Amino acid sequence: MTPEERLRELAIRHAAFAWLDARRATGQEIFTQDDTTGLSLAGEVHRLMPTQQGIWRPASLRAALSIRTAYRAEGVARPYDDAVGEDGLLRYKMRGDDVGHHENRALLVALQERLPVIWWLGVARGEYTPLYPIHLLGFEADRQQFVLDIDAVPQPDLAWPSTEIGIGVAYRQQLTLARLHQRPFRAAVLRAYRTSCAVCSFRHGELLDAAHIQEDSRGGQPVVSNGLSLCKMHHAAYDRRILGITPDYEVRINAEVLAEVDGPMLRHGIQEFHGRQLMVLPQRATEKPDPALLEERYEEFLAAG
Ligand SMILES: [Zn+2]
Repeated sequence: MTPEERLRELAIRHAAFAWLDARRATGQEIFTQDDTTGLSLAGEVHRLMPTQQGIWRPASLRAALSIRTAYRAEGVARPYDDAVGEDGLLRYKMRGDDVGHHENRALLVALQERLPVIWWLGVARGEYTPLYPIHLLGFEADRQQFVLDIDAVPQPDLAWPSTEIGIGVAYRQQLTLARLHQRPFRAAVLRAYRTSCAVCSFRHGELLDAAHIQEDSRGGQPVVSNGLSLCKMHHAAYDRRILGITPDYEVRINAEVLAEVDGPMLRHGIQEFHGRQLMVLPQRATEKPDPALLEERYEEFLAAG
């Protein structure tokens, strides 16, 4: 690839990342084939997703632009869950067993030319959330897999392990899986709560977080029934044990904070929710917050106050 060709490949990728950033800034976390087709990127029209699973290279490019992993229902093993090596890096299986297949060759070009790609993770049937930029670090021919680095993917609302943890292979693997799961977890939780805060029903996606009920450092799973869609303020209040949620979905406020006298934010934003039911819950029974997990977390709220 000439330097000019590489620059063009890079410019299209950067335009794609900027387009995704702009959409995500409005709260959109889920994308479909249709959403991401016919985009004008660096003066050309491109599609960001393959029509099938696997590796996508637009006809006018030489390197792969994206890869896609199918949706698996929660509870069903996801293909990437076992794909973290002892070095903490992810592995992505090549297409079939022919390294000369045009899709595999396109991903090898991205590796050789150091061109980042988009990784689409299935959130529901036909719906995907993007991780980017994904850098390729190597190809393991004997195991027919690519080595991926997701450390450059921004993770603004990732909670770091709060408990004591040993440094070693398990720790590296846990960090990588936490980074990998966060984006699809967020997309699935916001979707289940119709992009609203469970406590106050505030509806600005860019100010909502997907909170874990049981933290992942304590074994909490990245599934909707272990999640709550919360606005920034109610998320912080929940994490700091100022706000608790009972297993019956009732909001409680710490007694000391309830007695404080302050401005309208405290009164209307926190105190008035004491004793109220959550305003927004998922419609599907399997996605509602798990009472056993809420109970465990509520005990910690009581112990703190
Ligand atoms: Zn809220």
